[in-house]
Amino acid sequence: MSDITFIGLGHMGAPMAANLLKANLPLKVFDLTPAAIQAAVQLGAKATPNALHAVVNAEVVISMLPASQHVEGLYLGEGRLIQAIPPGALVLECSTISPEVARKVHAAAKARGIQMLDAPVSGGTAGAAAGTLTFIVGGENTTLERARPILEKMGKNIFHAGGPGAGQVAKIANNMLLAIHMIGTAEALNLGVANGLDPKVLSDIMKVSSGGNWSLEKYNPWPGVMDDVPASRDYQGGFGVDLMLKDLGLAMEAALATRTSTPLGSIARNLYALHTSQGKGTLDFSSIQQLFKRPSQNPA
Ligand code: NAD
Repeated sequence: MSDITFIGLGHMGAPMAANLLKANLPLKVFDLTPAAIQAAVQLGAKATPNALHAVVNAEVVISMLPASQHVEGLYLGEGRLIQAIPPGALVLECSTISPEVARKVHAAAKARGIQMLDAPVSGGTAGAAAGTLTFIVGGENTTLERARPILEKMGKNIFHAGGPGAGQVAKIANNMLLAIHMIGTAEALNLGVANGLDPKVLSDIMKVSSGGNWSLEKYNPWPGVMDDVPASRDYQGGFGVDLMLKDLGLAMEAALATRTSTPLGSIARNLYALHTSQGKGTLDFSSIQQLFKRPSQNPA
Protein backbone atom coordinates (compact mmCIF):
# COMPACT_ATOMS: atom_id res chain seq x y z
CA MET A 1 0.00 0.00 0.00
CA SER A 2 1.46 3.38 -0.94
CA ASP A 3 0.57 7.00 -0.42
CA ILE A 4 -2.17 7.22 2.16
CA THR A 5 -3.13 10.77 3.13
CA PHE A 6 -4.85 11.53 6.46
CA ILE A 7 -6.53 14.91 6.93
CA GLY A 8 -7.90 15.95 10.35
CA LEU A 9 -5.85 14.83 13.35
CA GLY A 10 -8.15 15.71 16.25
CA HIS A 11 -9.45 13.57 19.13
CA MET A 12 -10.45 10.80 16.73
CA GLY A 13 -8.19 11.33 13.70
CA ALA A 14 -4.92 11.34 15.66
CA PRO A 15 -5.34 7.87 17.21
CA MET A 16 -6.78 6.48 13.95
CA ALA A 17 -3.71 7.73 12.06
CA ALA A 18 -1.49 6.31 14.81
CA ASN A 19 -2.98 2.85 14.24
CA LEU A 20 -2.21 3.04 10.50
CA LEU A 21 1.38 4.01 11.33
CA LYS A 22 1.56 1.14 13.83
CA ALA A 23 0.60 -1.18 10.95
CA ASN A 24 3.57 0.23 9.00
CA LEU A 25 1.45 2.01 6.41
CA PRO A 26 3.16 5.10 5.01
CA LEU A 27 1.17 8.18 5.90
CA LYS A 28 1.13 11.81 4.77
CA VAL A 29 -0.79 14.01 7.18
CA PHE A 30 -2.39 17.44 7.28
CA ASP A 31 -4.33 19.38 9.91
CA LEU A 32 -4.98 23.09 10.40
CA THR A 33 -3.21 22.79 13.78
CA PRO A 34 0.58 22.48 13.38
CA ALA A 35 0.93 20.75 16.77
CA ALA A 36 -1.36 17.94 15.58
CA ILE A 37 0.85 17.42 12.51
CA GLN A 38 3.99 17.41 14.67
CA ALA A 39 2.53 14.77 17.00
CA ALA A 40 1.85 12.50 14.00
CA VAL A 41 5.35 13.16 12.61
CA GLN A 42 6.78 11.92 15.93
CA LEU A 43 5.04 8.62 15.21
CA GLY A 44 6.50 8.37 11.69
CA ALA A 45 4.07 10.32 9.47
CA LYS A 46 5.22 12.73 6.78
CA ALA A 47 4.11 16.35 7.24
CA THR A 48 2.58 18.29 4.36
CA PRO A 49 2.11 22.09 4.14
CA ASN A 50 -1.52 22.03 3.00
CA ALA A 51 -4.30 19.69 1.91
CA LEU A 52 -3.61 20.12 -1.82
CA HIS A 53 0.01 19.07 -1.32
CA ALA A 54 -1.08 16.21 0.87
CA VAL A 55 -3.09 14.48 -1.87
CA VAL A 56 -0.53 14.64 -4.70
CA ASN A 57 -0.11 10.99 -5.83
CA ALA A 58 -2.45 9.81 -3.08
CA GLU A 59 -3.86 6.34 -3.51
CA VAL A 60 -6.10 6.67 -0.45
CA VAL A 61 -7.38 9.85 1.24
CA ILE A 62 -8.91 9.61 4.72
CA SER A 63 -10.60 12.60 6.37
CA MET A 64 -11.84 13.05 9.95
CA LEU A 65 -13.18 16.59 10.38
CA PRO A 66 -15.63 18.16 12.83
CA ALA A 67 -18.78 18.78 10.77
CA SER A 68 -20.52 19.07 7.36
CA GLN A 69 -19.23 22.57 6.58
CA HIS A 70 -15.62 21.48 7.09
CA VAL A 71 -16.02 18.48 4.78
CA GLU A 72 -17.90 20.42 2.11
CA GLY A 73 -15.38 23.28 2.37
CA LEU A 74 -12.40 20.94 2.08
CA TYR A 75 -13.53 18.80 -0.86
CA LEU A 76 -15.83 21.15 -2.81
CA GLY A 77 -14.99 24.65 -1.49
CA GLU A 78 -12.29 27.10 -2.46
CA GLY A 79 -9.39 24.66 -2.77
CA ARG A 80 -11.59 22.02 -4.47
CA LEU A 81 -9.54 19.17 -3.12
CA ILE A 82 -11.62 16.70 -5.11
CA GLN A 83 -10.06 18.12 -8.29
CA ALA A 84 -6.56 17.53 -6.93
CA ILE A 85 -7.05 13.90 -5.86
CA PRO A 86 -5.81 11.55 -8.60
CA PRO A 87 -8.53 9.68 -10.55
CA GLY A 88 -8.64 6.05 -9.37
CA ALA A 89 -7.92 7.03 -5.77
CA LEU A 90 -10.09 5.97 -2.81
CA VAL A 91 -11.62 8.54 -0.43
CA LEU A 92 -12.73 7.42 3.05
CA GLU A 93 -14.71 10.23 4.65
CA CYS A 94 -15.08 9.27 8.33
CA SER A 95 -16.55 12.45 9.89
CA THR A 96 -20.18 12.51 11.10
CA ILE A 97 -21.90 14.86 8.64
CA SER A 98 -25.21 15.29 6.86
CA PRO A 99 -26.14 12.54 4.39
CA GLU A 100 -26.78 15.30 1.85
CA VAL A 101 -23.24 16.69 2.02
CA ALA A 102 -21.87 13.15 1.93
CA ARG A 103 -23.85 12.50 -1.28
CA LYS A 104 -22.57 15.75 -2.83
CA VAL A 105 -18.97 14.70 -2.20
CA HIS A 106 -19.77 11.19 -3.51
CA ALA A 107 -21.14 12.71 -6.75
CA ALA A 108 -18.13 14.99 -7.25
CA ALA A 109 -15.77 12.08 -6.57
CA LYS A 110 -17.60 9.83 -9.03
CA ALA A 111 -17.42 12.51 -11.73
CA ARG A 112 -13.61 12.45 -11.34
CA GLY A 113 -13.30 8.65 -11.36
CA ILE A 114 -12.56 8.57 -7.62
CA GLN A 115 -14.08 5.85 -5.42
CA MET A 116 -15.59 7.03 -2.14
CA LEU A 117 -17.20 5.74 1.05
CA ASP A 118 -18.92 7.72 3.76
CA ALA A 119 -17.61 5.81 6.77
CA PRO A 120 -18.60 7.49 10.06
CA VAL A 121 -17.52 5.70 13.20
CA SER A 122 -18.88 4.62 16.54
CA GLY A 123 -16.75 3.74 19.54
CA GLY A 124 -15.39 7.10 20.70
CA THR A 125 -11.84 8.09 21.46
CA ALA A 126 -11.21 4.86 23.41
CA GLY A 127 -12.24 2.79 20.36
CA ALA A 128 -10.10 4.98 18.10
CA ALA A 129 -7.06 4.43 20.33
CA ALA A 130 -7.63 0.69 20.67
CA GLY A 131 -8.33 0.20 16.94
CA THR A 132 -11.76 -1.21 17.75
CA LEU A 133 -13.99 1.37 16.05
CA THR A 134 -17.19 0.40 14.28
CA PHE A 135 -17.31 1.76 10.73
CA ILE A 136 -20.79 2.37 9.31
CA VAL A 137 -20.31 2.52 5.60
CA GLY A 138 -22.24 4.02 2.68
CA GLY A 139 -21.13 3.41 -0.90
CA GLU A 140 -20.54 0.67 -3.45
CA ASN A 141 -19.75 -2.90 -2.43
CA THR A 142 -16.60 -3.03 -4.55
CA THR A 143 -15.35 0.18 -2.95
CA LEU A 144 -15.90 -1.29 0.50
CA GLU A 145 -13.92 -4.41 -0.43
CA ARG A 146 -11.05 -2.21 -1.60
CA ALA A 147 -11.22 -0.18 1.63
CA ARG A 148 -11.63 -3.11 4.01
CA PRO A 149 -7.92 -3.85 4.68
CA ILE A 150 -7.38 -0.21 5.68
CA LEU A 151 -10.55 0.07 7.78
CA GLU A 152 -9.55 -3.13 9.58
CA LYS A 153 -6.39 -1.43 10.83
CA MET A 154 -8.54 1.13 12.67
CA GLY A 155 -11.69 -0.78 13.54
CA LYS A 156 -13.17 -4.11 14.55
CA ASN A 157 -16.67 -4.02 13.06
CA ILE A 158 -17.52 -2.87 9.55
CA PHE A 159 -21.17 -2.52 8.52
CA HIS A 160 -22.36 -1.79 5.00
CA ALA A 161 -25.47 0.35 5.53
CA GLY A 162 -26.26 0.90 1.84
CA GLY A 163 -25.44 3.29 -0.98
CA PRO A 164 -23.87 6.80 -0.82
CA GLY A 165 -24.90 8.64 2.37
CA ALA A 166 -26.38 5.53 4.03
CA GLY A 167 -23.53 5.32 6.55
CA GLN A 168 -24.40 8.82 7.76
CA VAL A 169 -28.12 8.02 7.97
CA ALA A 170 -27.43 4.96 10.14
CA LYS A 171 -24.98 6.88 12.31
CA ILE A 172 -27.36 9.78 13.04
CA ALA A 173 -30.31 7.44 13.69
CA ASN A 174 -28.13 5.57 16.20
CA ASN A 175 -26.98 8.75 17.93
CA MET A 176 -30.54 10.10 18.14
CA LEU A 177 -31.53 6.89 19.96
CA LEU A 178 -28.44 7.15 22.18
CA ALA A 179 -29.43 10.71 23.21
CA ILE A 180 -32.99 9.61 23.94
CA HIS A 181 -32.05 6.65 26.16
CA MET A 182 -29.37 8.69 27.94
CA ILE A 183 -31.93 11.36 28.82
CA GLY A 184 -34.50 8.72 29.82
CA THR A 185 -31.94 7.02 32.03
CA ALA A 186 -31.00 10.31 33.73
CA GLU A 187 -34.67 11.12 34.30
CA ALA A 188 -35.44 7.70 35.82
CA LEU A 189 -32.38 7.79 38.10
CA ASN A 190 -33.33 11.25 39.28
CA LEU A 191 -36.89 10.15 40.03
CA GLY A 192 -35.64 7.21 42.08
CA VAL A 193 -33.08 9.25 44.05
CA ALA A 194 -35.58 12.07 44.69
CA ASN A 195 -37.83 9.41 46.22
CA GLY A 196 -35.17 8.01 48.49
CA LEU A 197 -33.43 5.29 46.44
CA ASP A 198 -29.70 4.69 46.17
CA PRO A 199 -28.75 5.33 42.49
CA LYS A 200 -26.56 2.21 42.41
CA VAL A 201 -29.28 -0.04 43.81
CA LEU A 202 -31.80 1.43 41.36
CA SER A 203 -29.32 0.96 38.47
CA ASP A 204 -28.73 -2.67 39.44
CA ILE A 205 -32.50 -3.29 39.46
CA MET A 206 -33.21 -1.55 36.13
CA LYS A 207 -30.22 -3.17 34.39
CA VAL A 208 -31.85 -6.58 34.67
CA SER A 209 -35.41 -5.30 34.30
CA SER A 210 -37.29 -3.99 31.29
CA GLY A 211 -35.68 -0.54 31.62
CA GLY A 212 -32.21 -1.94 30.84
CA ASN A 213 -30.32 -0.07 28.12
CA TRP A 214 -26.77 0.80 26.97
CA SER A 215 -26.62 4.17 28.81
CA LEU A 216 -27.59 2.50 32.08
CA GLU A 217 -25.40 -0.56 31.65
CA LYS A 218 -22.26 0.81 30.04
CA TYR A 219 -22.25 4.57 30.58
CA ASN A 220 -24.19 5.32 33.77
CA PRO A 221 -24.75 9.10 34.04
CA TRP A 222 -24.99 9.24 37.85
CA PRO A 223 -21.59 10.09 39.43
CA GLY A 224 -20.04 7.21 41.35
CA VAL A 225 -22.36 4.44 40.18
CA MET A 226 -19.79 3.07 37.70
CA ASP A 227 -16.00 3.40 37.59
CA ASP A 228 -14.28 4.43 34.37
CA VAL A 229 -17.14 6.44 32.89
CA PRO A 230 -17.18 10.23 32.39
CA ALA A 231 -19.83 10.68 35.15
CA SER A 232 -17.27 9.52 37.69
CA ARG A 233 -14.61 12.01 36.53
CA ASP A 234 -16.67 15.23 36.50
CA TYR A 235 -17.96 14.39 33.01
CA GLN A 236 -14.52 14.98 31.49
CA GLY A 237 -13.46 13.15 28.29
CA GLY A 238 -15.87 10.95 26.35
CA PHE A 239 -18.33 12.30 23.76
CA GLY A 240 -18.96 16.02 24.07
CA VAL A 241 -22.38 17.68 24.51
CA ASP A 242 -21.65 19.92 21.52
CA LEU A 243 -20.92 16.92 19.27
CA MET A 244 -24.14 15.23 20.41
CA LEU A 245 -26.04 18.46 19.73
CA LYS A 246 -24.51 18.55 16.23
CA ASP A 247 -25.61 14.96 15.57
CA LEU A 248 -29.14 15.67 16.83
CA GLY A 249 -29.24 18.67 14.48
CA LEU A 250 -28.29 16.32 11.62
CA ALA A 251 -31.09 13.97 12.66
CA MET A 252 -33.58 16.86 12.64
CA GLU A 253 -32.39 17.97 9.17
CA ALA A 254 -32.81 14.42 7.87
CA ALA A 255 -36.29 14.26 9.44
CA LEU A 256 -37.34 17.56 7.87
CA ALA A 257 -36.01 16.52 4.48
CA THR A 258 -38.18 13.41 4.50
CA ARG A 259 -41.14 14.75 6.55
CA THR A 260 -40.43 12.14 9.20
CA SER A 261 -41.86 12.52 12.68
CA THR A 262 -39.13 12.40 15.37
CA PRO A 263 -40.83 13.81 18.48
CA LEU A 264 -38.42 12.33 21.03
CA GLY A 265 -35.40 13.26 18.90
CA SER A 266 -36.71 16.82 18.79
CA ILE A 267 -37.10 16.98 22.57
CA ALA A 268 -33.64 15.45 22.99
CA ARG A 269 -32.13 18.12 20.71
CA ASN A 270 -33.84 20.85 22.72
CA LEU A 271 -32.66 19.46 26.07
CA TYR A 272 -29.07 19.24 24.79
CA ALA A 273 -29.38 22.80 23.40
CA LEU A 274 -30.57 24.00 26.83
CA HIS A 275 -27.70 22.13 28.50
CA THR A 276 -25.07 23.66 26.20
CA SER A 277 -26.59 27.14 26.72
CA GLN A 278 -25.79 26.67 30.41
CA GLY A 279 -22.09 26.35 29.58
CA LYS A 280 -21.91 22.55 29.47
CA GLY A 281 -20.94 22.12 25.81
CA THR A 282 -17.51 20.63 26.45
CA LEU A 283 -18.65 18.11 29.09
CA ASP A 284 -19.46 14.51 28.19
CA PHE A 285 -23.03 14.04 26.94
CA SER A 286 -23.98 11.96 30.05
CA SER A 287 -23.74 15.26 32.00
CA ILE A 288 -27.36 15.78 30.87
CA GLN A 289 -27.96 14.24 34.34
CA GLN A 290 -27.20 17.72 35.72
CA LEU A 291 -30.33 19.15 34.06
CA PHE A 292 -32.36 17.13 36.53
CA LYS A 293 -30.27 18.20 39.50
CA ARG A 294 -31.91 19.49 42.65
CA PRO A 295 -29.84 21.45 45.20
CA SER A 296 -29.60 18.57 47.67
CA GLN A 297 -28.72 15.91 45.08
CA ASN A 298 -25.47 14.27 44.19
CA PRO A 299 -24.68 15.17 40.48
CA ALA A 300 -22.23 18.02 41.00
P1 NAD B 1 -11.87 17.33 16.66
O1 NAD B 1 -12.45 18.70 16.63
O2 NAD B 1 -11.09 16.88 17.84
O3 NAD B 1 -10.88 17.13 15.39
C1 NAD B 1 -11.10 17.67 14.12
C2 NAD B 1 -9.75 18.04 13.51
O4 NAD B 1 -9.97 18.48 12.17
C3 NAD B 1 -9.06 19.19 14.25
O5 NAD B 1 -7.73 18.79 14.57
C4 NAD B 1 -9.07 20.34 13.23
O6 NAD B 1 -7.91 21.17 13.32
C5 NAD B 1 -9.09 19.57 11.92
N1 NAD B 1 -9.61 20.32 10.78
C6 NAD B 1 -10.76 21.03 10.69
N2 NAD B 1 -10.90 21.53 9.44
C7 NAD B 1 -9.82 21.13 8.73
C8 NAD B 1 -9.38 21.32 7.39
N3 NAD B 1 -10.07 22.04 6.52
N4 NAD B 1 -8.21 20.75 7.00
C9 NAD B 1 -7.50 20.01 7.89
N5 NAD B 1 -7.84 19.79 9.17
C10 NAD B 1 -9.00 20.35 9.59
O7 NAD B 1 -13.08 16.33 16.37
P2 NAD B 1 -13.13 14.76 16.72
O8 NAD B 1 -13.62 14.56 18.11
O9 NAD B 1 -11.84 14.13 16.26
O10 NAD B 1 -14.35 14.31 15.77
C11 NAD B 1 -14.18 14.18 14.38
C12 NAD B 1 -15.48 13.63 13.79
O11 NAD B 1 -15.74 12.34 14.36
C13 NAD B 1 -16.71 14.50 14.08
O12 NAD B 1 -17.52 14.53 12.94
C14 NAD B 1 -17.39 13.77 15.23
O13 NAD B 1 -18.80 13.98 15.27
C15 NAD B 1 -17.06 12.32 14.92
N6 NAD B 1 -17.03 11.43 16.08
C16 NAD B 1 -16.44 11.83 17.24
C17 NAD B 1 -16.43 10.98 18.35
C18 NAD B 1 -15.78 11.39 19.65
O14 NAD B 1 -15.95 10.67 20.65
N7 NAD B 1 -15.00 12.48 19.67
C19 NAD B 1 -17.03 9.70 18.25
C20 NAD B 1 -17.59 9.29 17.03
C21 NAD B 1 -17.59 10.19 15.96
